[in-house]
Amino acid sequence: MSDPVTRLATPGVQALRPYAPGKPLSELEREYGIVDAVKLASNENPLGPSTEALEAIRTGLGEVARYPDGNGFELKAALAARLQVPAEWITLGNGSNDVLEMVARAFLSPQHSAVFSAHAFAVYPIVTQAIGASSRVAPAHDGSRGPKFGHDLEAMLAAVADDTRVVFIANPNNPTGTWVGRAELRDFLERVGDGTVVVVDEAYFEYVDEPDYPDCVRWVAEFPNLLVTRTFSKAHGLAALRVGYGVSQPPLADLLNRVRQPFNVNSLAQAAAVAALADEAHLRDSVRLNRDGMRQLEAGLRALRLDFIPSVGNFVSVDVGRDAGEVYQALLREGVIVRPVDNYGLPGHLRISIGLPAENERLLQALGKVLAA
Ligand SMILES: *Cc1c(COP(=O)(O)O)cnc(C)c1O
Repeated sequence: MSDPVTRLATPGVQALRPYAPGKPLSELEREYGIVDAVKLASNENPLGPSTEALEAIRTGLGEVARYPDGNGFELKAALAARLQVPAEWITLGNGSNDVLEMVARAFLSPQHSAVFSAHAFAVYPIVTQAIGASSRVAPAHDGSRGPKFGHDLEAMLAAVADDTRVVFIANPNNPTGTWVGRAELRDFLERVGDGTVVVVDEAYFEYVDEPDYPDCVRWVAEFPNLLVTRTFSKAHGLAALRVGYGVSQPPLADLLNRVRQPFNVNSLAQAAAVAALADEAHLRDSVRLNRDGMRQLEAGLRALRLDFIPSVGNFVSVDVGRDAGEVYQALLREGVIVRPVDNYGLPGHLRISIGLPAENERLLQALGKVLAA
């Protein structure tokens, strides 16, 4: 910290640890000389994007000299029709991560705090701390009153203080894959009041097939302080293009728009997202593949006698019963990339994304080999 430039940074940024992404395939192949590596580390869609989306990108290439539509007219119209909400309710982001950052810039300051759960998505503390605001981290369920490691909304409500301006709820959460039900979340929204913005992050919405899982977009009309975020990065398979969105009433959307970069979503991403939204068959195939892959992985993990956190997302966090960092390294040498989650307060776990059947099998074989060694 004695570096003179480092000392010029704000205290929040000085204390910040950068987001640790999944290791890219190219990096593993470069470092280990492996050619057929498998990446199950970033919750990407193993089927890739819709072919319609790819076609839209090709068509859009001729226009890249022009700035994109800064208001995202077509994509907002397509989303509005799909979600049955007015287009003015939608804020587009360079990934939903961008929307989370807009929330921090619009509502947080060094005098304010954000509330989120232990084991919650790593971007919430990053955007909070980068602004200089403080984090109030609510303890997660211990397993007695709700899913172990899952958000405890009673504890989150208790963590809300006078200085709290934002509450982040990941539903389902990454990396735990846990979720909160309709009555519980609704009760939270009613009790927390309108003195704080509540962000419900539904990055994995499309994958969830639980009758009691709430579609929070349906509640936006009733709660002026509610913002629901979703993304094209996960089920729609467009992670590299960076496109996501928030849904809120217009006054909240207007505040986000004030801090939004003018051309935050590029034209290829906008065109691909419109096409992806229309390709319902591809989305169905993606969700089905994920459900089957989750069953395959769960059965394989049980056969290996490993505990895992039951997940409704496209990933599962597994308790490897020993130093997860070593297992992670050993899996890399087997050509399989997964994700250590010690930075999420889960030091004995590895997060595995659902892949194609052969990729899941490759992971299970490698994990069996590594754990037997
Ligand atoms: C992946 C993820 C996101 C954001 O992804 P973007 O690519 O920025 O849209 C947001 N929330 C959670 C919980 C995620 O896992």
